[in-house]
Amino acid sequence: MQPETAVASEIDDIYAKRMALYERIETVTTIPWYYLAAIDQYERNVRQSRRDLPKAEGITGIYFKPEEWVGFTNPNINDEDPKTIEFFNGIGFDGDGDGKASLDSDDDVLYAFANFLLRYGTDYENIKIGIWNYYKRDKSVRIIMGKAKLYQNYGRLNLDEHVFPVPIGTHYSYRSTWGSARGWGGRRIHEGTDIFADYGLPVRATSYGIVEMKGWNKYGGWRIGIRDINNNYHYYAHLSGFSDDLKVGQIVEPGKVIGGVGSSGYGPKGTSGKFPPHLHYGMYKDNGYTEWSYDPYPHLNLWERQERAK
Ligand SMILES: [Zn+2]
Repeated sequence: MQPETAVASEIDDIYAKRMALYERIETVTTIPWYYLAAIDQYERNVRQSRRDLPKAEGITGIYFKPEEWVGFTNPNINDEDPKTIEFFNGIGFDGDGDGKASLDSDDDVLYAFANFLLRYGTDYENIKIGIWNYYKRDKSVRIIMGKAKLYQNYGRLNLDEHVFPVPIGTHYSYRSTWGSARGWGGRRIHEGTDIFADYGLPVRATSYGIVEMKGWNKYGGWRIGIRDINNNYHYYAHLSGFSDDLKVGQIVEPGKVIGGVGSSGYGPKGTSGKFPPHLHYGMYKDNGYTEWSYDPYPHLNLWERQERAK
């Protein structure tokens, strides 16, 4: 077996195990699997990007603090008895029916979260309220509901495919410029990679995602923001315009044309031509309380090579 094949089948295997877990919990709670998958994925992404939380070890990415699990006034921080946990209002739950509410059991952990949501209801609006009451943060709710929409639409968990933002084989150039100074609008660092190309060259969504923002900004001109399945926000700026059918909240797939390369920006709405046409491509990550910019260059490079190899 080739090493790449081994890795690919391991990934398929983890997705299959996760899906089986979501379907087990859906069967018992009637909460649709794609909401459970979305919460689980959100938590996994948050843990991957935070140093103050332990990394996910099991099938599920959901994390409960031990004191939240057993109940804040519970004197036994390692309590696994469902009865005393319930008495101390802990979130812990015995989902797999072994008589113990264990933080090491994927079924117990996901069922505990599902059980929290059941206090509100299992339809779209009530799930949304339940998620808001858990995170108390609008952005977390929006990101999770976006993921749920993607999972429901595609009926699968693997939505990791990427493409380069302009068509491969066309005339374009880019280099690593992240963090360098830039000229307009005061002292800001360059949070992205500029891909220089001819005016009007199609700009494509690089990932599966939800259009989170679309419109004018005095720096970015006509710009679009797309949130992918891994809490990443992909920012496309200085566009010549947008594809006609593009709306905020809509699903896009890798390769979907979202607009054209342009030179809009650096002034009031409609300003164009103050610099050579290029796509400014930025990547941001949300970690559950804040969002920060990181260098897209290595990712662009990888997607370009992967697409060339196809
Ligand atoms: Zn730029």
